[in-house]
Amino acid sequence: MQENNFGGLGEAEAEKRLREYGYNRLKSKNKKNPVGIFLSQFKDIMVMVLLGATVISAFMGEIYDAVTIILIVLMNAILGFVQEYRTERTMEALEKLTAPTARVIRDGKEKVIDASLIVPDDIILIEAGDQVPCDGRILRSNGLWCNESILTGESEAIRKDDSNDSVFMGSSVTRGNAVIQCEHTGMQTKMGQVSSLIDEAGSQETPLQKKLGSLGKTLCLICAGVCILVVIAGILRGEPIFDMLMTGITIAIAAIPEGLPAAVTIALALAVRRMMKRNALVRRLHSVETLSCANVICTDKTGTLTENKMSVTRIRTADKEYAITDNPDADNCLKELFRCSVLCNNASDDAGDPTEVALLAAAKKFGILKGDQTRLSEIPFDSETKRMSVTVSDNNGIRTYSKGAPDVILKTCRLIYTESGIAPMTSERKRDLYQVVDDYAKQALRVMAFTFTDEKTGYEVFLGLMGMLDAPRAEAKKSVNELRRAGIRTVMITGDHKLTAEAVAKEVGILRRGDLVISKEELDKLSERELDKVISKVAIFARVDPSDKLRIVRSFKRKGNVVAMTGDGVNDAPAVKEADIGIAIGKNGSEACKQAADMVLLDDNLSTICEAVKQGRTVYMNIRKFVRYLISCNIGEVMVMFLSIVLGMPVVLLPTQILLVNLVTDGLPAMALSLEKSEKEILRMKPSEFSGSFFSGGLLGRITIRGILIGLCTLGCFAYSLYLGCTLETARTCALVTLIASQLIHVFECRSERKSVFRMNPFENLSLILAALVSAGVTALCIYLPFLSVAMETTPLMLSEMVWSLLFAAAVPIASGLLGLITNRE
Ligand code: ATP
Repeated sequence: MQENNFGGLGEAEAEKRLREYGYNRLKSKNKKNPVGIFLSQFKDIMVMVLLGATVISAFMGEIYDAVTIILIVLMNAILGFVQEYRTERTMEALEKLTAPTARVIRDGKEKVIDASLIVPDDIILIEAGDQVPCDGRILRSNGLWCNESILTGESEAIRKDDSNDSVFMGSSVTRGNAVIQCEHTGMQTKMGQVSSLIDEAGSQETPLQKKLGSLGKTLCLICAGVCILVVIAGILRGEPIFDMLMTGITIAIAAIPEGLPAAVTIALALAVRRMMKRNALVRRLHSVETLSCANVICTDKTGTLTENKMSVTRIRTADKEYAITDNPDADNCLKELFRCSVLCNNASDDAGDPTEVALLAAAKKFGILKGDQTRLSEIPFDSETKRMSVTVSDNNGIRTYSKGAPDVILKTCRLIYTESGIAPMTSERKRDLYQVVDDYAKQALRVMAFTFTDEKTGYEVFLGLMGMLDAPRAEAKKSVNELRRAGIRTVMITGDHKLTAEAVAKEVGILRRGDLVISKEELDKLSERELDKVISKVAIFARVDPSDKLRIVRSFKRKGNVVAMTGDGVNDAPAVKEADIGIAIGKNGSEACKQAADMVLLDDNLSTICEAVKQGRTVYMNIRKFVRYLISCNIGEVMVMFLSIVLGMPVVLLPTQILLVNLVTDGLPAMALSLEKSEKEILRMKPSEFSGSFFSGGLLGRITIRGILIGLCTLGCFAYSLYLGCTLETARTCALVTLIASQLIHVFECRSERKSVFRMNPFENLSLILAALVSAGVTALCIYLPFLSVAMETTPLMLSEMVWSLLFAAAVPIASGLLGLITNRE
């Protein structure tokens, strides 16, 4: 990028303007404040009906009941509030992390700031890969091309001329660079005017939430039906109308899993937090889910599979091969080659593109440094052209130097620089050089060719080749293997030479016998249909352009795959957007690509993708776990009430008691289940196990059976207690203990679908143990603490009563196990 001589605004002035014009944001998103979150806990219609009824009952003299109900509802709301508030904070923190940044000049210095802090008149530097952060006027530009599709729908990039041309917020810079002056920010920008058309990604419901939402609705209807039946049956039997109405409402509150979608959000948000700690920044919640069923990961080579730490190891000029030694002597050819490599270079000794840093380091070893010269113009490197050129003026006059992929450079070279001067590039020489390129590439070296343009003839003169080593990451092989075991294929898509790609792919285990390697020329010849036919066997796409990535993603998708695709450059953005999971490379990735991605890799590492898949699968399983737990328990609760009324027995649980069950079983234990660690087998399972029906593997059957058993055993305990002559209050307390205990036992069974409780380490999830103890403790207090016992209408149980109540609870898993033996299901 060119040096700047713009002073920019002062910080104090910028601050003043920020107050005047506001933040450079499109919409001031309605932030939820804590009070709002708390109040939203009561917006459920059933809770409102219950509170209304409670007030009525208070007027009718049932003060105790009313206070108890209100307290329990309040405690439930506090639990809900804590969870939702934490989720909201996580999402806020995430938004901050993924907020776009911009390079501005303030007080004469270049700075990277949050793009929302840009103010009118700020001087901003933009370059290929950036997203234009505001509307602005170009002050100076260098081959600037912008894609304004977000505003105009026109997918082709537009060339922007120097003179006072404008650039607009939201468009992306596809080529070149520029210095712009901000004219409008926030809602005053063109984008601001059309922002109502732009939907807010991230706030959409995830597919799983939708699935569970509709399940919730079905369950609501069933529950509502049962509640009405219970109420009518009770009234017909002569129970007081008001009492029965209260019972009906409380069953509805206890049993309707209205909190499921919220619980899913919380589980996903927790996973996002865990993933962030492991260097995967998830920008869209639903991608956590999608990650679990990904079966193809298309990854770049450089950086993701390799270290992206280059060092030049082989050098070749027209006639000579050089080794990098400590005390080298440079002949003319080598000097010219290095001159080109340092001039056609934007890096400094320790910063910049790793390829260019390596070139500087190699030249330095031979004593060649950047000299005094003026750069007149630059055509920046572009993954599509695969070359870069600069025109400089020094004591030799004006000269254009280029470097790039050897196949691109060699194609245009008509001359070659030799020790005896400039000579024609004969076809033998060319063949010989191509052979050298292949040799280097087979050794996994990244090869670069260098030229300059002869002033007299205007022809390009070949200077030489350099081979750079970029070692595969130590953990890449392990990750590729782990992913394969998890049923996920890793496919390399690279701009690099086919042979280099093959050598690296073999080393990391991507390329195995029978796999195909397709180069750009081969890809271009394939029709979509032909590509679809072979795509499942391809391990490498080599020398391809970013635009090919889109074709590749689409083909994989047509074949029914769930594809993750990594990308870094601005040209990768469409493919990253199209993929089921777009992954942007964090370190050197362009802003445009990051904004298009679902996830950003902060450490550019394949093993982080592997870890993210693991977390995605874990959260999916955890959601299955708590859904299994919550619904089976709810079915149990409804069953008890329903059966008692149908069988002509007294009402088993009073409204306050139902609310208590709901509080102690649905709250903490269900939350703790979502904290379960990954099961060891999670990366041995196939992606299809995460993509089918949510209740696959007979889960719905298990849930129903368990619910019925909980209901039957609770009712059994109630009937048994009455049979032994206990008072109604004692029998109710016994049933309460059975119902709660059987649920607290079940929560431990829900920890795994594959292993029995006895084969799991109970101390692995300490929060669950703690949650169960708190729930059991609260129940004990409600039975044995006199004033609570009065409020809950329970009686302190004698030892024998407690024992049989617990035995009835223990009978649930035993019966379920026996049933499983018979039906081979549970
Ligand atoms: P991947 O797509 O896996 O990251 P890559 O980094 O090799 O692979 P590109 O960055 O598109 O892909 O590079 C393609 C080719 O362009 C390289 O093989 C190299 O020959 C050439 N090249 C890379 N960087 C530069 C550069 N800064 N200047 C000139 N040519 C370059």
